[in-house]
Order: sequence, then structure tokens, then C-alpha cells
Amino acid sequence: MTRQLKREVKIGNITIGGTHPITVQTMLNVPVKDIAGNVAQAKRVAAAGCQIVRVTVPTPADAAVVSAIKEAVDIPVVADIHFDYRAALAALDAGADKIRINPGNIGDDDRVKAVADACNAKNVPIRIGVNGGSLEKHILAKYGAPVPEAMVESALYHVRLLEKHDFDNIVISIKSSNVPRMMAAYRMLSAQTDYPLHVGVTEAGGNRMGLIKSGMGIGGLLLEGIGDTLRVSLTEDPENEVYAGYDILRAVGYAVAGPEIISCPTCGRTQYPMIEIANEVERRLRDEGFKKPLKIAIMGCVVNGPGEASDADIGIAGGKDEALLFIRGEKVRMLKGDIVGQFIDEIHKL
Ligand code: SF4
Repeated sequence: MTRQLKREVKIGNITIGGTHPITVQTMLNVPVKDIAGNVAQAKRVAAAGCQIVRVTVPTPADAAVVSAIKEAVDIPVVADIHFDYRAALAALDAGADKIRINPGNIGDDDRVKAVADACNAKNVPIRIGVNGGSLEKHILAKYGAPVPEAMVESALYHVRLLEKHDFDNIVISIKSSNVPRMMAAYRMLSAQTDYPLHVGVTEAGGNRMGLIKSGMGIGGLLLEGIGDTLRVSLTEDPENEVYAGYDILRAVGYAVAGPEIISCPTCGRTQYPMIEIANEVERRLRDEGFKKPLKIAIMGCVVNGPGEASDADIGIAGGKDEALLFIRGEKVRMLKGDIVGQFIDEIHKL
């Protein structure tokens, strides 16, 4: 894949765009007044590998959550602003590393200028976040539906409002819950701008449809070289959005820290509790924060398993209440009893 190279934008201690690694972000979902709860969740998502975290700041007083999170984690914090430009200014004062705001939503030009100037003074970027479900009335009237052309026009409309005030430290997202529409919109936008793109499918759903839509939409765009940072939106804990983000990057072929679990679907040959074992191995490695980029195979039978997983660094293949351990294609020994515990021990030795 050839990556579509965009200009570089610095968000706190992270740079996106250019050839920089594609970053994974999420958004906190604790009520904003619960600052301790937001801080605790920010620590959890950071521990899960989140690289940029967003929090809503509906009023200027709520900017206190930004400074509290910044004291607790060392990843960049993005303030999500909808209509109140004073909340954006307060979030900047509180140390926000990026502001997500659509300048067309905050009223007259003086307010846009106030936010653009304040961000320029602190070298803080702005993400324009267009959502197919909330396009400007005049654009929706022109196109009749939130088609990709309408979404692109909306994004460029907000971009121009900022550029008018000499602001070009911009990231753009152009999300829709409709995967083909979202992909078409990003393609069209990417052809027209060199601002880096935050990719995602909005209102994607839960751990089933949300993962499928995000894998298709985000993963499909990444395979076309489009996307500089991503958020998987799930009706789920934000940690799961982070894990899903990395799994999409891994599936697309990017090098990602942490193991890649490969496992067969099982079939009538399987004679050990493989589904439970595969889930348990994945959960334990995740919980301990295992970061080695190993390919770990969990296969259903000794007949076909080792051969089908011959490119794995380490694996097991099930026999009857036992499992054959194989390391880089070599059969090592049978594991009996606590198969998961012994397998994890062997993984640690690599
Ligand atoms: S590896 Fe064995 S158990 Fe798994 S699907 Fe293939 S034949 Fe079935």
C-alpha cells in the first residue's frame, strides 16, 4: 500500500501525518462532572495503549477535567467542543493539546478568530469533525442527503473559516455510520487536501457490528493509504476501542507492539477446550501488557494445526486433554494439566 502523505501536525508530544505511525485514540465516556472518574478512565485507556485521549468540555467550567487528566497521564488530551467557544478557550488554558471544534458551529467570525488566535499562540491544532448526521442546513439543502460530496463540502467550509484567520494547524475527520459513504467521503477529501485525516466510522455499534463496520471502513481506507490517526467508535468501554484500533492496524499489516494471536475455527477434530484456551491466553497476555510482537498460534488439532500455523513463533495444537507445544515449526513437547499456564511460561521465554 502507498500511504497518502499529509502535512505533519503536532499534538502535544505526538506528531501525526507524513510517515509518522498511525495513532490510536479514544474518547472518555464518564460524565464530565466526575473528574476523578475521568482521570481513572484516562489512566486505564493509556495503560491499554491509547495514544491520544479526548474528553468532552461542554462549558468553560468543565475545562478542569482537562488539567486533571493532563496531570495523570502523559498522552495528549483533546478537548471536544460543540457550541461554546469560551469552553475552547478555557480548555486551552487548562492545557489541552488539541481542540475538536467545527468553527461553523460557534457563531460569528470574532469567536472563530478568538479560538484560531489562541490555538495559534499555543501551537495547538484543531480537528474539524464533520459527521454525516449533522451537516449544515445550507449544505444538506443543496445536496438533499448527507452524500460524500456534501460531507466534503462541509469539511472544506469549516477549513476555510479557520484559514481565513491564518490558521492551518488542522486535522479533519469526515465520519458517517454508513461505511460505503464514509469511505467515499474520505477518498474524495483526501484527494483535495493535505491536512492529515482522522479516520473512523461514527455510531458504528457494539462489539459485533461496530467492529465489523470499523474493520471495513477504517481498515479499508488504511489499505488505500488513507488515514493518519484513527478512532474505533464502539458502544463499549473505551479500552476496547483502543484494542480494536490496534487490531485493525495489525490486520492491515502495520507493525504493532504486542502479540498477534492466530487460531483456527475448530472443527470435529478438536478434542480440547480450545475456544476457552484461546480466549484465556489472549486475555492474560493483554492484562499483563505483553508487548513482544510474537505470532502466537492456538490450533485445534495436532494433525493439521502445526502445519497450518507453521509461520507462528510459538503455538499449541490440541490433543485429547493435552496440547502439543511447537516453537518456530519444531515440535517441542506435550503440555498436560495447566495448558494455559505452561504455554504462557513458554511464551515468556521467547
Ligand atoms: S487445525 Fe485441526 S481442528 Fe483446527 S480447523 Fe484445522 S483440522 Fe480442524
